[in-house]
Amino acid sequence: MSSSPDTVAREVRRRRTFAIISHPDAGKSTMTEALALHARMISEAGAVHGKAGRKATVSDWMEMEKARGISVSSTALQFNYTPTGLGNDDPDDDVEAAYAGSAGERVDEPHVINLVDTPGHADFSEDTYRVLTAVDAAVMLIDAAKGLEPQTLKLFQVCRHRGIPVITVINKWDRPGQTPLELIDEISERIGLTPTPLYVPVGIAGDFRGLLDRRSGTYIKFSRTAGGAKIAPEELLDAQRAAATEGDAWTAAVEESELLSEMGQDHDQEMFLAGETSPMIFTSAMLNFGVRQLLEALVELAPAPAGRADVDGTVREVTDPFSAVVFKVQAGMDSSHRDRLAYMRIVSGEFERGMVVTHAQTGRPFATKYAQAVFGRDRSTVDTAYPGDVVGLVNATALAPGDTLYDGPRVEFPPIGSFAPEHFATLRARSAGKYKQFRKAMDQLESEGVVQVLRNNTRGDASPVLAAVGPMQFEVVTARMLAEFTVETDLEPLGYSLARRTDDTSSPELDRQRGVEVFTRTDGALLALFSDKWRLQFIEKEHPDLTLEPLVAAAD
Ligand code: GDP
Repeated sequence: MSSSPDTVAREVRRRRTFAIISHPDAGKSTMTEALALHARMISEAGAVHGKAGRKATVSDWMEMEKARGISVSSTALQFNYTPTGLGNDDPDDDVEAAYAGSAGERVDEPHVINLVDTPGHADFSEDTYRVLTAVDAAVMLIDAAKGLEPQTLKLFQVCRHRGIPVITVINKWDRPGQTPLELIDEISERIGLTPTPLYVPVGIAGDFRGLLDRRSGTYIKFSRTAGGAKIAPEELLDAQRAAATEGDAWTAAVEESELLSEMGQDHDQEMFLAGETSPMIFTSAMLNFGVRQLLEALVELAPAPAGRADVDGTVREVTDPFSAVVFKVQAGMDSSHRDRLAYMRIVSGEFERGMVVTHAQTGRPFATKYAQAVFGRDRSTVDTAYPGDVVGLVNATALAPGDTLYDGPRVEFPPIGSFAPEHFATLRARSAGKYKQFRKAMDQLESEGVVQVLRNNTRGDASPVLAAVGPMQFEVVTARMLAEFTVETDLEPLGYSLARRTDDTSSPELDRQRGVEVFTRTDGALLALFSDKWRLQFIEKEHPDLTLEPLVAAAD
């Protein structure tokens, strides 16, 4: 039996679903581990926080998951978190004491945090963008020394396009880097997002002592633990004691905070939710400094899951009967048998494993007997799930990214949309005798959203053009063609670097231009490909009447 709307509403209120967006090496994995540590999911962070140490932790999970027969993937990490309330409690408590002291006393239910993984650099692809359709907030993790980096920028553009509120985290503050004001300026100027620091670091980058809590004016002083393996103890000091303890470093932090207030850079919840401002926190994921503050910000400021508009614009409210959107499909993860996992984000209602739902795109029933909590350590989370949660469905051959599943009144959510491809290549079967398998494989991979496929009459069907957000997508295609369909293929990069959406009226003229070619994508969209932006600009100038619309794009 399904729970009442009241139960669903209560579950929704305590949920937060977010993703970390960052450039490779900014510390996403280390931060994920630090969050798990603070949520008491693990008792110790990897003794060495380097890649090797972390891999050990992750593979332990995998082994465990394998042993329990659940999925081997890190698509979503779910954990409970009970705010410790430190800051309102006894200033002399360190965080350990705060945890111990508050356990059992708090009547509030813990929060349920869903951290949806964005694939790292190695898998950089359209998948990364699709993940952002499944979250309600994003944490933009920035390396203090490097500032904004290309991948962060791209992902941020997607957040902006989708109206996802962003919390900014300046990580690695324990290492030399830029000043807070330099980083703030860079973010304001380059992406037009106004950072509103919740805390100002005490001590320059490389000398991370603690955080000035701008809302209370108090000082949270951190202590290191051996190897940064444990939660860093915190000490709460009032301004006077902070000044006595930290001297100039405290004065500098106070001045910075005042300057920010004068510039109007104090947190404003409405502006944050509107995507105008971004609460900012300084952390060292490696030392576990500032991690609790990040969790508190997520719980306090990030929005709980909300209803979603369907194709007709009618909102499916979170308390309505079950509905979900598939945002990612992953195949061939288990080499012994070719399984296909579809990940859905629940939009409304209660999900119970075993319920038979409807696949909106085909109208067919879909049995959910094999639903999995994908990073689940706790089997019970598999059986019931609520809006904001991510559930993996095994052998979901009919499901593609963007598809809707529902129970009760019919609903279909708008498609996720394809992202602007920047890499183009032709693909053909090495042996003409394999053409039939090649076609079949192409259809299959395309339906999974592995790559976009473009065709035109000139090139014909034997060598379609693949279009991708990241070149890694091509490698996935050729590898899977071989492994799953035994088709050897030849991939040839094409000299185009950007695409614009056009229409039937404009395409004949575009086809006549040098350095331009028009294609039909499988969804019916007409795409004009250009060798480079100068070619595009030239054509736009010469033929201002042509339809050339940017696609959902990444930053230039
Ligand atoms: P990812 O590629 O974003 O997942 O980054 P990782 O978490 O793998 O971190 C990249 C490197 O930066 C690793 O060597 C980490 O140990 C290191 N690192 C991550 N966070 C911090 C931090 O807060 N301080 C310092 N000093 N190093 C960090």
